[in-house]
Order: sequence, then C-alpha cells, then structure tokens
Amino acid sequence: MKLRISIISIIIILFLFIGSCKNSNQTAANKQVDSDSKKQEWAIVIHGGAGAMSTENLTPDLDKEYRVALAEALNTGKKILSEGGTALDAIEKTIRIMEDNPLFNAGKGAVFTHEGRNELDAAIMDGSNLAAGAVAGVIDIRNPITAARTVMTNSSHVMLTGAGASEFAREQGLEIVLPSYFHTEKRYDELQEILMKEKHGTVGCCALDKHGNLAAGTSTGGMTNKRYNRVGDVPIIGAGTYANNATCAVSATGHGEYFIRWTVAHDISALMEYKGLSLKDASELVVNDKLVKAGGSGGVICVDKSGNVSIPFNSKGMFRGFATADGKEGVFIYRDETASK
Ligand code: ASP
Repeated sequence: MKLRISIISIIIILFLFIGSCKNSNQTAANKQVDSDSKKQEWAIVIHGGAGAMSTENLTPDLDKEYRVALAEALNTGKKILSEGGTALDAIEKTIRIMEDNPLFNAGKGAVFTHEGRNELDAAIMDGSNLAAGAVAGVIDIRNPITAARTVMTNSSHVMLTGAGASEFAREQGLEIVLPSYFHTEKRYDELQEILMKEKHGTVGCCALDKHGNLAAGTSTGGMTNKRYNRVGDVPIIGAGTYANNATCAVSATGHGEYFIRWTVAHDISALMEYKGLSLKDASELVVNDKLVKAGGSGGVICVDKSGNVSIPFNSKGMFRGFATADGKEGVFIYRDETASK
C-alpha cells in the first residue's frame, strides 16, 4: 500500500515537473516583462509591428532609429499616465507620435497598396464602458487614431470607412492631408523595401491609468500590396484591438486575416473572463499555440487591470516597449532581448 502511494506521488511530481518546464519555455519570450503580482498604479505597452527583423537585416543605424522612436513614443504615454492622465489620452498621443514617424507602417510611413496608394486603418477602445471607434481605408486623414477616437466620442457609430470617414473627419476639424503626404521620401525607399519584405510596422498601444481604466489602440497602413479595398484586423473590434476593464487591453500586429478569424484580441479577454486564465497564460495560449497551429504570424501587446504586461509574439522579432509605475521599462526588437534600454 505504502509503495503504491509513493509510486503515485513520484508520478504526480514528475508530471508537475514536466508541466513547469513546458511553461517556462513558452514564457521565455515574455521574460523581460514578467511583473510581480504587485498592482501597478499605471502601465503602458507599445508595439511598432512584428516581423522577420533580425540583426542581419536591420542595420545598426536603423536599429538605433527604431529604438529612439519607440522610446519617444513610450515616454509620451508614460508622462501622461504618471501625471494622472487617462489611458485614452496616453494611447492617442503615443500612437500619433508613431503615425507621424515614417519608420512605422502607420500614418506617414504607411505601406503601399497594389495600386500604389496608401489606405489606413485604426481603432481605439475604452475598457471602462466598451465604447469603441474605428476608421478603415482612409486616404487623407493625417492621424487615423484621432479619427477613430472622434468616431467613438462624437458619433453614434463604431466604424466609418473611406470617403465617408474623411467627410466626418473634415467636419470634426481633424487635419486632412493630400494623399501624397503618405508617399514616403527617397530616404525611406529602402525602408519601404524592408517593410514590404517583412511586413512589419503597424503600431499599437495599451494602457492602464491611475483611475483604473484600461484602453487599447492600433493604427496601420495594412498589408503591403493589399488590393480591392482590403481591410485587416486592426479596425475590427475584438480582432486587432480590444479593451475591457474586467479583463485586459490588447493591440495586435501580424497577418490580419488570421487575427480576424481567430478573434485574437477578444479571445484573450474571453479566456481571462470565462476560464480565469492570467493575462500571460491567455495571451500566450492564443499567440503561441492557437495562432501558430493556424499559421498566423504576429504578436500582441496587452495589459491587465493590475498593470501586468504581456508581449507574446510568434514572429522572429517585434518592435515593442513597456513601462510600469514601479520603474520597470524597456524597448526591444529581437526575440531574446532582456536588457533594458
Ligand atoms: N495586422 C495588420 C493588417 O493585417 C498588419 C500588421 O500588423 O503588420 O492589416
């Protein structure tokens, strides 16, 4: 009898050991953002797209430029949150900085469609009341994230597209530009080539503010060479963008068609809400298991109501950064980076 009990105990211990090894492997990519269980007063996490970036295909100069750009965006949101501003303000201002920077596939640096145009998508969501706003296929709104926020606050709709979205933005006094504004200058031709090959550059931001509210926003030029007014996951609430104070805020980047079909952002929230999973477990299950099995490459940034941050991605790299009230922060590009900036 005693022998049987000890054999059973050994088997149980073995199973627990194997389980924990598997778990620590899956979480390796997330190492730099493992936060303790202490609740954060505020937290912010950003992305500038996921893709095949590596030290071989990103020159030291570009590597540096991206880190500087990520830090500038992160510091913008960080300042707003640490001074007691709202998550929505932090997200809009942070994303505007990245939209105005031609390094990213959003706003100014948007990639080209098959026809050589730039069509932009963006969304924002307020986790306190599930209000959301989005624009899709816009060609002349300088900052689509601001248009998305205006749709959320000043209209009774969630998503406006194309010419109608532009008309609304104009009426609301938003900055309208000539479509040629999005045509990148010669200096960035090389960058466009990289963006085309590696499909990265979408930008996103999630935040928890001192008032306990979560919000998420995402902005993109979409997939290079897209055709037929294709719209991706970014402006679709629950696919590329989602926030709910009860669970988490999520912003995605990657092959949009998969993120739409697997309703990635909402799936992470639902796993937390209905199955009680932690932010880390829920986001890693969706990105590193479900999406990998489906063949969908990319990643997400997310933050929960305690200020825990998670950044799982199944691509080679992801432009990303985070900062939390306890002073932890950093910007990263490649998979195994753990050093702070
Ligand atoms: N998810 C975006 C889209 O499919 C593209 C990206 O994140 O790179 O439009």
